[in-house]
Amino acid sequence: MAKHLSVENYQRPALPAPADSILLHSCCAPCAGEVIDALLASNIKTTVFFYNPNIHPQEEYEIRKQENIRFCQQREVPFIDADYDLDNWFERIRGLENAPERGERCTVCFDMRFERTALYAYEHGFSLISSTLGISRWKDMEQINNSGTRAAARWQDMQYWTFNWRKQGGSQRMIEISKQENFYQQEYCGCVYSLRDTNRWRRANGRTRVERGVKFYGRDGLPPLTDNNNDA
Ligand code: SF4
Repeated sequence: MAKHLSVENYQRPALPAPADSILLHSCCAPCAGEVIDALLASNIKTTVFFYNPNIHPQEEYEIRKQENIRFCQQREVPFIDADYDLDNWFERIRGLENAPERGERCTVCFDMRFERTALYAYEHGFSLISSTLGISRWKDMEQINNSGTRAAARWQDMQYWTFNWRKQGGSQRMIEISKQENFYQQEYCGCVYSLRDTNRWRRANGRTRVERGVKFYGRDGLPPLTDNNNDA
């Protein structure tokens, strides 16, 4: 990684008082990589909470989750594997199937994921939550922060940390870490409607449909490196 992107050059985020640890909702490994490394470099006790029943289909959900588990194991960060309660997700989203990305459907989707994160935090003694979702440039950070703040406000003395993970090289490091780790590179946000809309856009722009499970950062469409195909 380029020296100017080194995490040693990073001004460490300080936790908002009085928190001494964080429950970090994670959406996927590419978004989580930089956020986890920045938290670890800042000596912040971090637990990752994976709750993303929005991801469709289940094979895609499993790939994204396993990538996240792999990275957490490597960094020795506790990983909480929450429910894939798809029926509840569809129930909350009903009527918003055709809303555009970054619209009302996404607000409900974030609300649901952060409410569960906040509930787990409350039940397990965390007073601070945040999410890796905010590092993605595809997302509306204000929309995410509003959902997170609403979810945390349901519990006394709980905060949602609105730290901007994109700044100070965060966005670039996110890509660099993804390449280093050969993370799975998803091509749509996650739900069945985002897959539908991505394919519609691609068709309208003369591009091929999304192919799930085949792209990995730093591998240009090749499968990820394993002990059996390590060509280094
Ligand atoms: S586009 Fe993404 S954030 Fe919006 S509802 Fe679908 S999965 Fe959730």
